[in-house]
Amino acid sequence: MDDLEKLKAAMRGKRLHLFGPPGCGKGNRSKDLQALGLVHVASGIALRAKVRDDPGSKLSKTAQAVMERGELVPDEIVVPVVMEHLQRPECREQGFVLDGFPRTKAQADLLFSEIDLDLVLHLDVPRNFLVYGVVEGARRACTACAAGYSDFDPPRIEGVCDRCGGEIVRRADDTAETIARRLDGYEAETKAFLPDLEARGIVEVLPITVADDEAVDERHLKTLRGEVYRVETDDGARLRMLNLEGMRRRLYRFLAEKFA
Ligand code: ADP
Ligand code: ZN
Repeated sequence: MDDLEKLKAAMRGKRLHLFGPPGCGKGNRSKDLQALGLVHVASGIALRAKVRDDPGSKLSKTAQAVMERGELVPDEIVVPVVMEHLQRPECREQGFVLDGFPRTKAQADLLFSEIDLDLVLHLDVPRNFLVYGVVEGARRACTACAAGYSDFDPPRIEGVCDRCGGEIVRRADDTAETIARRLDGYEAETKAFLPDLEARGIVEVLPITVADDEAVDERHLKTLRGEVYRVETDDGARLRMLNLEGMRRRLYRFLAEKFA
């Protein structure tokens, strides 16, 4: 059995949650975990699908207006959508990666009253990169499989998804204003319950940055216009960052050490 097959077997049935601000790469890490056999349960994608499938309903209109402003959809709408998905047999059998939920302490308490998690992965991305990466990096996503791209991680052929051949477009709510508002919401509501998760002993940090003394293949680093990109952190350091391929490798290595 090769290493990837061994990792897939070890991940079967595991329940993961991705914790981190908008633009930190939850969508792409979810794709990497999906490739290991976990079911991707994404509140944002589920909400957008609900609006698309039933655009005329009162619920859809409320949800859409809230999402366009970058605010949080009320619990009465988002909680049933996510909990229904988690209770499907495929999630119990294969395991799942929960992306975008819980986002508030109330949602977290509700989740843990029904389900335990094996691991919360805290995707640690310098704040300076978040708005910049989404807006200046022109974050865009596949309309078919939701894989994420940007100028730092462009697809091989512009407009066409590397993973599935689907069409790549920008999200209407990815403006500087809504990203800033989503980040404020993250700082105020989501980050506030991280200590609760830490107290359960299930949180592990997965950084995106690479220290200066760490040897790393340049093909695994974010570049912009052909140059290795460096992000300035809060303490003034300028660090290199892993790209899609680099983060996938870091994630798999981490999971293999923990579970395989
Ligand atoms: P992002 O992480 O970039 O904010 P998502 O796709 O996760 O994007 O979510 C898009 C929108 O859906 C959010 O701005 C919010 O309005 C709504 N949403 C998603 N998850 C939740 C949640 N757990 N609680 C409330 N609203 C949510
Ligand atoms: Zn795709």
